Amino acid sequence: MLYNDFQGMNLSRLGFGCMRFASDPATGEIDQNKVNAMFDLAIQKGVNYFDTAYPYLGGKSEIAMTEALKKYPRDSYYIADKFPGHSLPGPIDNIALFHRSLEKCQTDYFDFYLLHNISEWSIKIYESEEYHIIPDILKMKEEGKIRHFGFSFHGGPDLLEQVLTKYEGVFEFVQIQCNYLDWTLQDAKKKYDIITKHGLGVWIMEPCRGGKLAKLPEEDSAKLKAFDPERSDASWAFRFLQGLPNIKVILSGMNEVSQVEDNLKTFETYQPLTEEEKNCLFGIAEGMKKGVPCTACRYCCDGCPIQLDIPYLLACYNDYKFAASAVAGMRLDGLDKEKLPDQCIGCGQCAHACPQSIDVPAALAELAKMYAEGPHWEVTKKARGEEIKKDLNME
Ligand code: SF4
Ligand code: SF4
Repeated sequence: MLYNDFQGMNLSRLGFGCMRFASDPATGEIDQNKVNAMFDLAIQKGVNYFDTAYPYLGGKSEIAMTEALKKYPRDSYYIADKFPGHSLPGPIDNIALFHRSLEKCQTDYFDFYLLHNISEWSIKIYESEEYHIIPDILKMKEEGKIRHFGFSFHGGPDLLEQVLTKYEGVFEFVQIQCNYLDWTLQDAKKKYDIITKHGLGVWIMEPCRGGKLAKLPEEDSAKLKAFDPERSDASWAFRFLQGLPNIKVILSGMNEVSQVEDNLKTFETYQPLTEEEKNCLFGIAEGMKKGVPCTACRYCCDGCPIQLDIPYLLACYNDYKFAASAVAGMRLDGLDKEKLPDQCIGCGQCAHACPQSIDVPAALAELAKMYAEGPHWEVTKKARGEEIKKDLNME
């Protein structure tokens, strides 16, 4: 197993993401035997980092993870959990919710604790005085119940820079969605550089983009097989990330023993990609994109009579075109109403200014339609909020 040093700890470079455990087809419950078998194998081969979150798997992930770890000494592994500020039903007793996670994980401290899913929308909750989240969580750190504090992030580079500048010295690490597709599609390169510039550790989620890079279309897979017929598609995604020196932990949401075996093989040794291999991956990524080639040069912005943040909107558009998700919509939820894509009057100034010849008004009209159609985070948030109320006996 490859390890990385983080503040004197030896973290396994492969971390076990606990968001996607397989369920038993007969009962619909998490297949605990399978989870135990996967954990045993991973631990035997040196994995020591396990990442869960309060809302994962309807609140059952924390419990299943804890069950699979209970036969191992608490100081032989690291656990990461997350505070669900983006899912709260309203201002609540944050400390009670934090303690509920400790209780479900049968521990009195978290090695790593994250504010879950900071974005342009959820930052308003996390920073709200009424919600009082950051001071309460920092109190838990002062009391020794959190060893290392960070956040997971789904927003854009500008917000990331703002947060890290404002909270200099508060956070120690940031978890971002990064893989060879999102390197450009979701500006992961810029985010990686910003975190590194601020001297914090980079944690990676979605290294295979929800499995899409683990099972490529046949023709793309064949290009990689031509380099090495024995390697899985997923292993290429991991090797791309292994080449980025400030990445401390790469989380993989494994739900089959065969996936654990394959990933363990990839993380046995580091074999850097050649330039040719890297270019092949970027070529595959380009072919997967379905949006517009906006370079965020902002030449179009000054002339917009509505003063829309066109590159921001086009980044959301590209994300929607790849896969409509509530998280993509959440970035639009973060904008004031007068900055949403449906405010575009179609004057065409931007299209004339654009060196990439992007038909911006057409893209914004389509974005407005996709955003209206959903999925909407509000729906997920409402359901999760009800679960939190029930879990904390707040009815
Ligand atoms: S077409 Fe829309 S986005 Fe472009 S300049 Fe006009 S109002 Fe702004
Ligand atoms: S001018 Fe074109 S490429 Fe530049 S930010 Fe605007 S839309 Fe994007």
